[in-house]
Amino acid sequence: MDHSMKQYFKRIIQSFSFLKGFSVTVKYFFQPKRIVTEQYPENKATLKMYPRFRGRLEMVEDENGENRCTACGMCEKSCPNGSINVLPTKNIAGKKVLGKYIYRLDTCTQCGFCVETCPFGAIRMNQDFELADFDRSHFELKLNQKEGRA
Ligand code: SF4
Ligand code: SF4
Repeated sequence: MDHSMKQYFKRIIQSFSFLKGFSVTVKYFFQPKRIVTEQYPENKATLKMYPRFRGRLEMVEDENGENRCTACGMCEKSCPNGSINVLPTKNIAGKKVLGKYIYRLDTCTQCGFCVETCPFGAIRMNQDFELADFDRSHFELKLNQKEGRA
């Protein structure tokens, strides 16, 4: 087969590819409800991430705003990036309780090991996805609102 024939058949195949792509465009033009592309940021107020999305780490709190963390440190040990520091303290009864829970968002890879490791279900990955910031100091977060548990 000479060069011009090859080019001829190549162009025919390319035109089929174009028609295939164009048919998808036409299909969604007439069925707009089937479009899965999100119109971000126009839909910012209503946009919900899918359930398995991992945003940033947060503590699970009960109705009194208390977390379940016992400061065991398992999550800190399981984190491959050293993104967690659990700083325990003691309550008035001398029992070890959570002092500060420090989380570094800038080194976290959202692997979820810490959440899987926690024996008390005290932490979870939330649905936040707008995590960019100009100030690096904003990436070091104290996750617990109160120091210690009752
Ligand atoms: S999600 Fe992974 S990287 Fe992020 S804090 Fe947990 S264990 Fe560390
Ligand atoms: S979050 Fe869970 S694993 Fe981490 S210190 Fe608290 S209780 Fe332990």
